Amino acid sequence: MGIEATQYYIKHAVDMLDISDTLAQSIERPYRVVKTDVTIELDNGQLATYTGFRVQHNNALGPMKGGLRYHPTVNEDEVHSLASLMTWKTSLLRLPYGGAKGGISCDPQLMSSGEIERMTKTFTGKIKEVIGPYKDIPAPDVNTNAQVMAWVMSEYSKYQGFSPAVVTGKPIFLYGSEGREEATGRGIVIVTENLLKLDSKPLAGARIVIQGFGNVGYNTARIIHEKGAKVIAISDVNGGIYCAEGLDIPALKSHYDKNRTVKGFPGSESISNEQLLVTECDVLIPAALGDVFDRKLAEAVNCQYIVEGANGPTFPEADEVFDKRGIKVVPDILANAGGVTVSYFEWAQNIQQFRWPLEKINAELNNYMVDAFDRVVKTAQVKKCNLREAAFLIGIGRVIKATLTLGL
Ligand code: NAD
Repeated sequence: MGIEATQYYIKHAVDMLDISDTLAQSIERPYRVVKTDVTIELDNGQLATYTGFRVQHNNALGPMKGGLRYHPTVNEDEVHSLASLMTWKTSLLRLPYGGAKGGISCDPQLMSSGEIERMTKTFTGKIKEVIGPYKDIPAPDVNTNAQVMAWVMSEYSKYQGFSPAVVTGKPIFLYGSEGREEATGRGIVIVTENLLKLDSKPLAGARIVIQGFGNVGYNTARIIHEKGAKVIAISDVNGGIYCAEGLDIPALKSHYDKNRTVKGFPGSESISNEQLLVTECDVLIPAALGDVFDRKLAEAVNCQYIVEGANGPTFPEADEVFDKRGIKVVPDILANAGGVTVSYFEWAQNIQQFRWPLEKINAELNNYMVDAFDRVVKTAQVKKCNLREAAFLIGIGRVIKATLTLGL
């Protein structure tokens, strides 16, 4: 999702708040943009150069926080947009953070583990002055994981001393947190359950369709399946599968681990990603990349609810159609905030040099998600707006108040 769509949502919320155009523009703009060449030696001895970005959007409410993405489509515009979303997300959840995002334009599927390690460490070396436990704290996103975070931590620590709090989403034995890997999925399930509750519907038995089978898609599928909902269709980059009775998610995971795709899962019907998005269901959960719903697809979807696991899946013109059709959409900055919330718990544990058990992590995650969900629903009722407008209103409102109180 480019910055234009995010700016549209910001402008829309700002119009509902009584603030000057200058202040509105200043909160849209990033605090700092880093663009840097990342040159490494490939396994075959040749050199390759990738372009890396870190966009630090806003720090009015705390050190900046946001993921690191490795994908061929990464560009400055998209990273800026994702960094801005992080500012509103952390503010909405009342986490002590601002927003940032990073990415490297590369295709990690074509790279060896050693090449990814060298690229990660070279990039970290280039941004080491501007990140840190009290400046900017990266975390995993598309095609990055606990191993990549360990490499960032290792390179940063070379210069600053042992610093686990510089990244979150680390391996648990290297001061990562219990529950972090599944946190985004768990948060999505908490939100989905509460959304259905608003209409007095149970989660058990609800028909769910999920786009994506990575960290977010898989963990959402696993937890929602454990709670008795039926995942009737799911996909990855290679295509999707459908089963009207509901897929057996643990068996699907074993199939995926063997074949690196959900396709060909015994007892399922093969469908395309396009078919998946218009499959009839109760809840549709995009959990892959952004830019999914345009006006045409918004007219075609066949669901009652959309819970945005992915960041930036919906264009503004699609939102209008969803409103008109009475489809309730839980926006990304609320729906997928479980990841950054448990990242906050991980950072707090690192700083205190203490460990929380999983039960405490999950209980606190539930408190944060339900609290934010309730505030968004209440604001939407009071302001007579949709859930996205309400979420942006709350997120932007807190940042503006902090900016004005701290002094420009
Ligand atoms: P991931 O790399 O683990 O998984 C991405 C998944 O999307 C893979 O299954 C891939 O096959 C699939 N995919 C890619 N292109 C696709 C396409 N065109 N059609 C269908 N599937 C496709 O990434 P992730 O961490 O699961 O992130 C997914 C989304 O969730 C991203 O938008 C990310 O920004 C967002 N998100 C992630 C986290 C987190 O904690 N990892 C937190 C908040 C939001």
